[in-house]
Amino acid sequence: MPRIPPDEILIAGAFRRGAGAPIETADPADGTLITTVHAASPADVDEAVGAAAAAAATPAWRDLLPHRRARLLHRIGDLIEEHAAELSALQTADTGKTLTETLALAMSAAGTFRYTAAALETAEDSLTPARGPYVTMSVYEPIGVVGAINPWNSPIASDAQKVAPALAGGNAVLLKPAEWTPLVSLAFGRLVHRALTEAGMPTALLSVLPGKGSVVGNAIVTHPLVRRIGFTGGTATGRTIARAAADKLVPASLELGGKSPTIVREDADVEQALAGVMFGIFSSSGQSCIAGSRLFVHRSLYDSFLGELVERVRKLRVGPGTDPATQVAPLVHHRHRDAVAAYVDLARAEGGRVLCGGAAPQGAAHADGAYYLPTVIDGLPNSARVCQEEIFGPVLVALPYEDEDDLVEQANASVYGLACGIWTRDARAAWRLARRIEAGTVWINTYKQFSISTPFGGMKDSGLGTEKGRDLIRAYQRQKSLYWGT
Ligand code: NAD
Repeated sequence: MPRIPPDEILIAGAFRRGAGAPIETADPADGTLITTVHAASPADVDEAVGAAAAAAATPAWRDLLPHRRARLLHRIGDLIEEHAAELSALQTADTGKTLTETLALAMSAAGTFRYTAAALETAEDSLTPARGPYVTMSVYEPIGVVGAINPWNSPIASDAQKVAPALAGGNAVLLKPAEWTPLVSLAFGRLVHRALTEAGMPTALLSVLPGKGSVVGNAIVTHPLVRRIGFTGGTATGRTIARAAADKLVPASLELGGKSPTIVREDADVEQALAGVMFGIFSSSGQSCIAGSRLFVHRSLYDSFLGELVERVRKLRVGPGTDPATQVAPLVHHRHRDAVAAYVDLARAEGGRVLCGGAAPQGAAHADGAYYLPTVIDGLPNSARVCQEEIFGPVLVALPYEDEDDLVEQANASVYGLACGIWTRDARAAWRLARRIEAGTVWINTYKQFSISTPFGGMKDSGLGTEKGRDLIRAYQRQKSLYWGT
């Protein structure tokens, strides 16, 4: 069992119990209670915002030279790496994910801090050639206090993607983890708190405030002193947050849901495509915004590809995230498992064929966990609800396509536009398709690969703005133009 942090949360630079309703966090592998976290209240949020605004204005922080601030980010990256095994075990207990995945997420968080530090060290303000009797210059300034609101599916990686650029930009941050998974964000908060203390910086630069979205999240996004919001989560919540940001006229970046198509052309390397399609949907038990949840296979290959796919999916090992042999871990929560199961029931009711899975696994080993068998469904039109709505579980819907125009029409017939995977040996076809598909990220002969230097964001209802990329710090700064007469 990993070392569990105390039930305190990080408010205005100090660890203490929040005044909000307690949240019980349970291990999805067997339902055992891990701990009770005393969540934040709106008054705690108000206190954290006030302290964050004061911390952001402290000369020691405000005037810190970029290379010194970068040193702090490097230190946070080092601390995350040093504690990666502990963070991984904690996240596996809290989310159910495999240890392999949670270790990778912790290491990616460390990498995000290091990359951001390097970007900060090399960032320059820009001098623009004069077009009159003056020189002009653009400088970038901190925004002040920013809110970072995250979902439960990859907590520490999402935390790093917002907190690293926000601190690099000279701001103070209020981080709100999801109700179901507060633990790793609190442990992350302890490491940042330690690095800030060592550097002699105000510890109120980061608060970690778990609690209900409609209470704590809402208190953060509507607070007048919170001047920028970074949000990752569902599309409906994203709209609520965008409205709150519009009321205050503050920027909000929104990383939202998806229903991403994975495409197998008739000239695909079938072995590569099978592995890629399975990884795309069943890794993270499908609880991934970029899950390749709609499979389009060329009609000529459809029956043979699906037959082989289903045979392999049946052999996937479903078990606890702590077992190295596990390929499909439990879902985050029983309630979420039930929501996924309801979608499969709906598919049956609408006339879909459940080719494998379609139930919770039987047997004592799985009895108390939030498990669901990896499932493949076909026989439904693209307009069916299970083909259009984000299920966020290990459920793949398969559809045949006739030709490229038919494929593009079906793939783009979705409110979402987050990601797409294409399997083909034809480079020209890959290029054409990649340009025609409406998606923020297109993978060709691979899937779910990420580079911190490549911007990530969604089209249509999948989001607004990007995270990552060379300019990630600018998203957490304000630009000011100066004119200097000669
Ligand atoms: P969610 O929208 O229910 O919650 C996300 C966060 O918002 C949580 O911390 C929640 O407490 C908070 N929240 C809820 N209501 C709020 C409100 N009124 N004001 C402020 N905050 C509020 O999403 P979830 O169920 O936790 O996560 C799953 C969703 O996240 C999926 O739709 C998935 O696609 C999406 N997601 C997107 C990305 C991406 O990068 N595009 C990455 C991961 C997850």
